[in-house]
Amino acid sequence: MNIILLGPPGAGKGTQAARLVERHGMRQLSTGDMLRAAVKAETPTGLKVKAIMDAGELVSDEIVSALISDELVALPQTVGLIFDGYPRTQAQAQQLDQILAQHRRKIDRVIELAVDEDALVERITGRFTCAHCGAGYHEKFKLPRNTDPMKCDHCGSLDFNRRDDDNEESVRTRMAEYRAKTAPILPFYEARELVSRVDGMADMDEVTEEIEQVLRQYGAE
Ligand code: ADP
Ligand code: ADP
Ligand code: ZN
Repeated sequence: MNIILLGPPGAGKGTQAARLVERHGMRQLSTGDMLRAAVKAETPTGLKVKAIMDAGELVSDEIVSALISDELVALPQTVGLIFDGYPRTQAQAQQLDQILAQHRRKIDRVIELAVDEDALVERITGRFTCAHCGAGYHEKFKLPRNTDPMKCDHCGSLDFNRRDDDNEESVRTRMAEYRAKTAPILPFYEARELVSRVDGMADMDEVTEEIEQVLRQYGAE
């Protein structure tokens, strides 16, 4: 099954994608993660996109679709894909269809994580990740089990990171970008009857369960 997790910044896409990877051996394709890796490695793409990302604006469609296309080349057909943070524009949605067709794949389901905008700033400004394994945490909603000293549940690392763009100003821009450019791609998938809406305001475990239900319902097709 190939699915898209669609929702504004902080909706829980990364959190839920990680769980699907663990449970089903699917592969998470996050353009945000790919771009951050490029910034860190100071590749030509990374140098080009750093300021755009920090401001919370969207990187060009060509850059992100090329990242996705490159990534798909090495992936066996049998591995299910989770698109996280891509597509984010109408052009990207069309490019994705083309890229998938080249690999004899298609989108089986688009899962919309519906969340109140008011909750997103709190989610994002409280977000941090393990510097070693990338596991995601939250100051209020998901602290590691061991907090004194703070220690990663998954790998035991004591080092954590916050994203440069997880500040209120950038978040506001990212939400505006989502409203203007990303939310309008929903009708494109609704017309194909591919969208399932999940309550992203529920507890993390409940959201996971709702997503599992969608996968059970549509996975056998
Ligand atoms: P979040 O998890 O908050 O939704 P992401 O990690 O997906 O954020 O993306 C971080 C930043 O990377 C975005 O604000 C944008 O600058 C860039 N980016 C990621 N994916 C895309 C995409 N598909 N199209 C354009 N820009 C993107
Ligand atoms: P996205 O990838 O959509 O930007 P994340 O998965 O990174 O979002 O989640 C943003 C922050 O909110 C993280 O710190 C995460 O731990 C937290 N979070 C995710 N899902 C929930 C939820 N259902 N309830 C409360 N906090 C959540
Ligand atoms: Zn870790």
